[in-house]
Amino acid sequence: MKTAMLTHADCLTHVTPEGHPERVARLEHVLHTLEPLDVNRVTAPMAADDDILRIHPPSYLEELRRALPAEGQVALDGDTWVSPGSLNAAFRGAGAAVRAVDMVLGGEAPNAFAAVRPPGHHAETDTPMGFCLFGNAALAAKHALDHHGLSRVAVVDFDVHHGNGTQDLLWDEKRALLITSQQIPLFPGTGRADETGAYDTILNIPLPPGSDGALMRQEYQDKAFPRLRAFKPELIIISAGFDAHADDPLANLEWQTEDFAWITAELCVLADELCDGRVVSTLEGGYDLHALSASVLAHLQELMKAAK
Ligand SMILES: [Zn+2]
Repeated sequence: MKTAMLTHADCLTHVTPEGHPERVARLEHVLHTLEPLDVNRVTAPMAADDDILRIHPPSYLEELRRALPAEGQVALDGDTWVSPGSLNAAFRGAGAAVRAVDMVLGGEAPNAFAAVRPPGHHAETDTPMGFCLFGNAALAAKHALDHHGLSRVAVVDFDVHHGNGTQDLLWDEKRALLITSQQIPLFPGTGRADETGAYDTILNIPLPPGSDGALMRQEYQDKAFPRLRAFKPELIIISAGFDAHADDPLANLEWQTEDFAWITAELCVLADELCDGRVVSTLEGGYDLHALSASVLAHLQELMKAAK
């Protein structure tokens, strides 16, 4: 069976102001780069309101709908903008995460990647933040737990920024293990090692500015992989951000494209060992078009190698 790749043209209708790093061209460039791949291409559905309400309160949805402009763009905070197409894009992103979980748990795909934007891991329970509107990775986790009845899921977030939103949404969810590595200091300012969740199911791995893929590999081998093995997840969800790349303009880590291939391959090996290879990955950050596309390609190629 082939790796599933979920996306939708609506994700290109979320338009940010000129010069904003989280721009339409990111996904255009990624989709163009992935065109030759032999994957199962799936049109991402809209998430239902009930899906979103697994992680965000009704008032949050109402506020987003009220904030949506008829034309142009409006800022929800200094970083996070919405245009007329933004909610459709966000509903497709969340829908892709939900559908990806359905496919992988339903035996329709061995693993899956959601090529979507806006990203999701900074969106907190009732606060949009850091370019993000809905917490896609946390939603995938809750959907797997509450809809499919899994007992344990893991979320691994290797975006260079702390997945504060995912941490907020899963803080008191003892059935979910969240492992998140991030450059510190950097936006959003959280993600210290002593942030461990209400039930000690959150592992934060801070990485110093200027550190490279060798340190990341060591940290994952020493800290992340033993936690995953001990937790025994039935599904591994990846918050796949590629802004730890050395060429990325928003951060100061020195990972290379091969490092993203390595972490993906290692997580697939662990998934094989722990949960029949079941991996759902969703796109987060990555702001240098070439580094982003090359790294997403490497990520997909590892998922495809692991597919069976
Ligand atoms: Zn990021």
